Amino acid sequence: MVSIKTARELSLMKDACEISAGALRAAGEAVRPGISTYEIDTIVRRYIEKQGASPSFLGYGGFPASACISVNNVVIHGIPAKTTILRDGDIVSVDVGAFYRGFHGDNAYTFPCGTISESAKALLDATRESLYEGIKQATVFNRIGDIGHAVQEYVEARGYSVVRNYVGHGVGAKLHEDPSVPNYGTSGRGVKLLPGMTIAIEPMVNEGAHHTRVLGDKWTVVTVDGRLSAHFEHTIAITPDGPRILTLCE
Ligand code: MG
Repeated sequence: MVSIKTARELSLMKDACEISAGALRAAGEAVRPGISTYEIDTIVRRYIEKQGASPSFLGYGGFPASACISVNNVVIHGIPAKTTILRDGDIVSVDVGAFYRGFHGDNAYTFPCGTISESAKALLDATRESLYEGIKQATVFNRIGDIGHAVQEYVEARGYSVVRNYVGHGVGAKLHEDPSVPNYGTSGRGVKLLPGMTIAIEPMVNEGAHHTRVLGDKWTVVTVDGRLSAHFEHTIAITPDGPRILTLCE
């Protein structure tokens, strides 16, 4: 069931989302050659706890960390580890959520580590722009399919592919709520967007084919062809004045 948030609930959610955005920024500032993804996760957890919030992902479905940190060919759900040391030229997707006063925020960004290749930079630029193409469609009385269609069209026109096996989602009192928000689809199809709906739009874009598989740790999702993958996400609210991005740092 899709939940509609009141103005008061949206204001509480904005707080959770700002903490999530601050945690993501802190993670990005820490990305550099030589740091472990475990150290970045610790920075994220400390930031969130310092705000009086708790990390949404820690323990979610048994996930063992506060942030998902996914390097290069890892699409999503990378588990931070002391043995995963970032190197110059890596691309580093960080996905983080915070729970505060009853609501979750959720956001992700793929950071360059040191100097990255032109092709990696082009993938990051296209994925980030595709998120904004999707957000533009998140207007009252549009449908979920309008978002996915816009993301897919933008991505495929640049020769990349959209991951099918994982999608965006409603977000609020629960981290994952209805509706599902695929990054592919048909305009005019799916759930109608109404004021007070809050959704996480999160294109996952592969340099090669869209196929993914899960590693033996049951979490880490990688591209089947071993090529790069990028991931950008915002939590947004549908409002009569248009889409409002909630996961922004003040
Ligand atoms: Mg999400």
